Amino acid sequence: MSEFDVDLFVIGAGSGGVRAARIAASHGAKVMIAEEFRVGGTCVIRGCVPKKLMVYASRYADEFVDAAGFGWSVPQASFDWSKLVAGKEKEITRLSGIYRTNLEKSGVALVQSRAVVEDANKIRLVAEDRSISAKVILVATGGAPVLVPAVPGLEHTITSNEIFDLPEMPKRILIVGGGYIAVEFGALLARLGSEVTLAMRAANILRGFDEDMRNGLRDAMIETGVTFKFGTLPTRIDKTDKGLTVALSDGAVVDVDQVMLATGRDPNTRGLGLEKIGVGLDAIGAIKVDEYSQSTVPSIYAVGDVTNRIALTPVAIREGHAFADTVFGNKKTEVDYIGVPTAVFTTPELGTVGLTEVEAREAYHCVDIYMASFRPLKATLSGRAEKTLMKLVVDGETDCVLGAHVLGEGAGEMAQLLGIAVKMGAKKADFDATMAVHPTSAEEFVTLRTRTARYRKDPADMA
Ligand code: FAD
Ligand code: NDP
Repeated sequence: MSEFDVDLFVIGAGSGGVRAARIAASHGAKVMIAEEFRVGGTCVIRGCVPKKLMVYASRYADEFVDAAGFGWSVPQASFDWSKLVAGKEKEITRLSGIYRTNLEKSGVALVQSRAVVEDANKIRLVAEDRSISAKVILVATGGAPVLVPAVPGLEHTITSNEIFDLPEMPKRILIVGGGYIAVEFGALLARLGSEVTLAMRAANILRGFDEDMRNGLRDAMIETGVTFKFGTLPTRIDKTDKGLTVALSDGAVVDVDQVMLATGRDPNTRGLGLEKIGVGLDAIGAIKVDEYSQSTVPSIYAVGDVTNRIALTPVAIREGHAFADTVFGNKKTEVDYIGVPTAVFTTPELGTVGLTEVEAREAYHCVDIYMASFRPLKATLSGRAEKTLMKLVVDGETDCVLGAHVLGEGAGEMAQLLGIAVKMGAKKADFDATMAVHPTSAEEFVTLRTRTARYRKDPADMA
């Protein structure tokens, strides 16, 4: 008979927590999981899944127009936001149900309550006003939007948490930020018919992505009517009877229906009781963990967005799985963070894996660039002024592909498969030796014959 109520208590039934709970249970552990909101977490309820459904909805706008070039006469299309929101709600409710069923089937006890840590082996279930003792505690509480800049009128703003369920689609929206969420919602809302302005402190969107891709996406978004205000942030937001009036730091004033903050996400550690029992947190409040997701208190672990690693769903899932294998499966497992592929679900989409040109040129002595920009076949008849952009970043000395980047239709799907090749250490010669699939856009990656640039660290040697 164990001295604890459960072997593992998981706080948060999102991507990381649910995976950890199920795998630990499959290893024979007695597991309980607490969720304060909706089972499935950010990705299922107000992140990846509903976002992608909205992206799909937005792309019909292009399809209806493009169809004409292929012989179709499409009557004037109209869009109903509330129907999309209702459809989205139905789907995420179905998915959340599947998550619940899977937890049940794995023998994990689910408690619908906020949970806080009382001591190194004790959790308080706030809704039930009772405590549970656990041999191991896993904190998988995710993150929450950062509400900055702190200007007068901040209380009138929304975040990605609210955008999915607005009763009406904003006819005019100001999005603050230039990261993943800002550009994804900017692109999709513009297609659904909103007048979109993106204001950000930086000089360009998507810090950390390859420069050519950033510029290409920015230009493509401008082409579809998105207004960018770089180096500009709101200084004041006032509510009027017509919506919101926003004063910007460049002196401009814009009238909109909604202001959405997309200025990053902070780890959900506030009020969890971690500091008082000695769990180390970093400067942004993320739980400090080692390579096995163990915190500075040995019985407490953390995975996913609550740690300051890579804030993506597949990473949280991998961390949850690795934790369960390490602690309950007798198999020490580290997560490999090298070469994590990722996609930005704008239109056009951006897919990427490995090093950007700038990163490669900093780290390698000789870097070769292979780049192509072309009009995809579909755009010939649709008449759309659309360009697909592809880029391989190659180690000029070993021929190893260090990074692959693509901007265009299907970029996310390509990034997933390019990720395998880059992870395996594929050489440019391996790409060249691969037969093309014709006619596709992806075939361009295996037909990039001509080097567009070579950079050597010593400028005198530059080709
Ligand atoms: P979460 O999934 O956030 O789960 C944490 C859970 O803990 C939540 O359900 C929360 O309610 C619960 N919780 C918090 N505190 C407590 C408590 N004290 N007691 C009980 N329960 C608690 N990633 C991608 O890979 N691809 C995408 O396309 C993508 N799109 C995104 C779009 C948006 C708008 C956002 C916001 C994020 C997106 N992400 C995407 C990121 C992805 O959603 C997160 O990286 C992922 O959900 C992190 O998983 P997690 O398990 O760490 O946390
Ligand atoms: P990002 O980190 O992508 O972008 C944050 C944006 O906010 C940047 O433009 C940043 O500017 C700006 N910013 C940060 N702090 C401030 C500040 N104090 N004042 C003004 N601007 C500020 O975060 P998101 O919120 O867009 O998304 C959160 C995370 O969720 C992402 O990082 C990603 O990991 C994940 N996600 C993944 C998606 C996917 O996989 N497709 C989609 C959506 C989210 P600067 O560039 O100058 O730092």
